[in-house]
Amino acid sequence: MEIAVESGVRPMEMGVGMGKNQTLICAPIMADTVDQMVELMHKAKFKGADIVEVRLDHLKSLDPRPDIEVLIRQCPLPTLFTYRPTWEGGEYNGDEDSRFEALQLAMELGADHIDIELKAAHDFMNFTSGNKPEKCKIIVSSHNYEYTPSVEDLGNLVARIQGAGADIVKFATTALDITDVARVFQITIHSQVPIIAMVMGERGLMSRILCPKFGGYLTFGTLEEGKVSAPGQPTIDELISLYNFRSIDADTKVFGIIGKPVSHSKSPKLYNRAFKEDGVNGVFVHLLVDDVNKFFDTYSSPDFSGFSCTIPHKEVALARCDEVDPVAKSIGAVNCLIRRPDGKLFGCNTDYVGAISSIEIGLQGSQNGATHTGSPLAGKLFVVIGAGGAGKALAYGAKEKGARVVIANRSYDRARDLAELVGGQALTLAELNSFHPETGMILANTTSIGMQPKIEETPISKEALRNYELVFDAIYTPKITRLLREAQEVGSKIVTGVEMFIGQAYEQYERFTGLPARKQLFRDIMADY
Ligand code: NAP
Repeated sequence: MEIAVESGVRPMEMGVGMGKNQTLICAPIMADTVDQMVELMHKAKFKGADIVEVRLDHLKSLDPRPDIEVLIRQCPLPTLFTYRPTWEGGEYNGDEDSRFEALQLAMELGADHIDIELKAAHDFMNFTSGNKPEKCKIIVSSHNYEYTPSVEDLGNLVARIQGAGADIVKFATTALDITDVARVFQITIHSQVPIIAMVMGERGLMSRILCPKFGGYLTFGTLEEGKVSAPGQPTIDELISLYNFRSIDADTKVFGIIGKPVSHSKSPKLYNRAFKEDGVNGVFVHLLVDDVNKFFDTYSSPDFSGFSCTIPHKEVALARCDEVDPVAKSIGAVNCLIRRPDGKLFGCNTDYVGAISSIEIGLQGSQNGATHTGSPLAGKLFVVIGAGGAGKALAYGAKEKGARVVIANRSYDRARDLAELVGGQALTLAELNSFHPETGMILANTTSIGMQPKIEETPISKEALRNYELVFDAIYTPKITRLLREAQEVGSKIVTGVEMFIGQAYEQYERFTGLPARKQLFRDIMADY
């Protein structure tokens, strides 16, 4: 996506809580009573919101004049009043005149903004005869809960919203694919009027985080996880603390983890904290990607600078790279992609280093600090469960260290192919429980069996674990999987996916930024998990 950043129209000066950008964080306030709403408004201020959206349609009852007066007088932040009808996704199902009256009253009583739906804007302007206090900005909004239209259709929509008398344009569409967001960025950056443009749903998350980069007027941040007024909203805490929202500007480089699923990934937490400490103008986001090629075709600008890659895309991502590191080529998977200034994609694999070094450290610990001239993996029987990206990295790495490698996988053909590649033996998953040619083996799970939310699953029986000196699990949510718990119970040494994650993250960070990784910081952050 080639987007030229213009000075554009920036949000009005609110004079509150500003960082590098002027995009506001707006907290939707939804509660049954006015008192509860006032309490939430104070909470929103405490959390760092710049403005609150008062969702009148969520109140169980509304006595317009006294209630709106209290809501404005007692609000510690600028206000946006919305009285959303059911036909536009809200809760209000009364008559339009009463709704218009309440919104008009809000304007007269000192609301900073009111929101009126495009479909009702003409009638509302007639109702008020176009009168409004100078201070109050009218947001005309349109919501598409089904899809994201073409750039042309979005452009026409913006023109219609402007034509309806909007001071601020707002539209929210639905992301069927993450590439839908690019069209919304394109509209945002070229808008000549202040604009709020969001793409709803998990695939649209990036639109809510990166809007300061493209000059969006505001983004919505919820007070608590899950208490959203539209699908896909992050919390205020996430915007401010996780994504360093205040520091995002037109020059901010975008990094992210592409995967499906991806929301569990801790990578944004790690890299964004490190960016902040190192003063790197970058943001690292979760990218729920269905089609890797479509993603890279769409986000091809050097501004989208670097990507971690996880399940299930590591192999397709390799095929997509213009250049691949030789080790990653042997493994057949990349987990780290760098967009070079000329637009070319370079791919490498950092899983291999992270996993193998953490297992080596784990083994040395189990041998009471015995010193080794070579790798403690040399000569060991190393059983890898899984033949995907992480499986290949572990198998290749173990082989490199002189281990004898066995691959067990759900799809036996993939196990066989990988075993051939590394000169090892292939098993089906069913054969794993009775496979114990010797004791003192190493076991590495590289499948998602046992990952959140299915944490009671495990790839091998507890009994069979007795043959393993060390058990490693690539999964890091949860940190201690059922597999690791049972391995501990039978007396095996364990190494968690968190160790691997930290190890591979060091190298990715260095490749993303050219700076040495802050190893202690990464360890401290991951210690919470
Ligand atoms: P991938 O390339 O998609 O491979 C997934 C593997 O898991 C395949 O072998 C697949 O078998 C197997 N699998 C998936 N669901 C299964 C199920 N229900 N039953 C049996 N086997 C199943 O994924 P990946 O990138 O290698 O990642 C695999 C795991 O490693 C994930 O949990 C990921 O979070 C973790 N990981 C952790 C780190 C870290 O730093 N700690 C780094 C990378 C990956 P088939 O071949 O039969 O489909």
